[in-house]
Amino acid sequence: GIAMAGVTKQYGDHRVLDAIDLDVRGGERVALIGPSGSGKTTVLRCIARLEAIESGSIRIEGHEIARMADARSGKASAEVAAAMRGVGMVFQQYNLFPNMTVLDNLTIAPVKVLGVDKAEARERAAGLLDLVGLGAKADAYPARLSGGQQQRVAIARSLAMQPSVLLFDEVTSALDPELVGEVLEVIRGVAAQSDVTMLIVTHEMQFARDIGDRVVFMEGGSVVEQGPPEKVLADPENERTQRFLRRLL
Ligand code: ATP
Repeated sequence: GIAMAGVTKQYGDHRVLDAIDLDVRGGERVALIGPSGSGKTTVLRCIARLEAIESGSIRIEGHEIARMADARSGKASAEVAAAMRGVGMVFQQYNLFPNMTVLDNLTIAPVKVLGVDKAEARERAAGLLDLVGLGAKADAYPARLSGGQQQRVAIARSLAMQPSVLLFDEVTSALDPELVGEVLEVIRGVAAQSDVTMLIVTHEMQFARDIGDRVVFMEGGSVVEQGPPEKVLADPENERTQRFLRRLL
């Protein structure tokens, strides 16, 4: 799981995360919602160690990964590096390697980073492509695929690293509306067939409602309200959550 405690992140004197606390238990699926600029993407980037934080603690499976000295120097201890190998992130822009086939996109990191045997990596990759409904596209190059298919490959590629934690950053925002459904369906399928911990930033409230064991609403760099999806989305207690949801109607 993920445990963030008292995490503060600033860009210059703009405080983007304000001593935020956020826990995601092992195997839990949490949807993170909130207005534009509330800090949702920054939460994921800090957990993925793409940003250094000013203060606080971030633990992945119990391992502290945000110790300030480490993050600032850019040098990770062996413990931090090992913990980070268990964290995968899927971005709004899928960033597949354009000069590699779909299958090679899925095998390169397991082989080079994890030292998985090549034949085994290919076999696992084929299984993951089936899971995302793209078994027939193993030898295609990314440019030949639709945006939705590329995003499904990106999800399979993260899974190829056998993460214990997966972070999804608005993975359908760059897609044409008719391609959103297939990607959300793939994430639902992954959730149903694995026990990977998921923290999902999304603007799709219906999706937040059916994927989430819990919905967390943040605003201004803090968690304002959290709880079961049917409670937070349909009958929120906090006036700021109510206002956010009303604006979406
Ligand atoms: P959205 O839903 O629009 O993606 P968000 O909730 O994910 O928003 P963040 O992307 O985390 O919000 O951004 C939070 C705040 O931090 C915003 O005010 C943004 O302008 C600011 N910010 C983000 N990245 C940087 C950066 N590299 N330098 C300066 N400010 C930044």
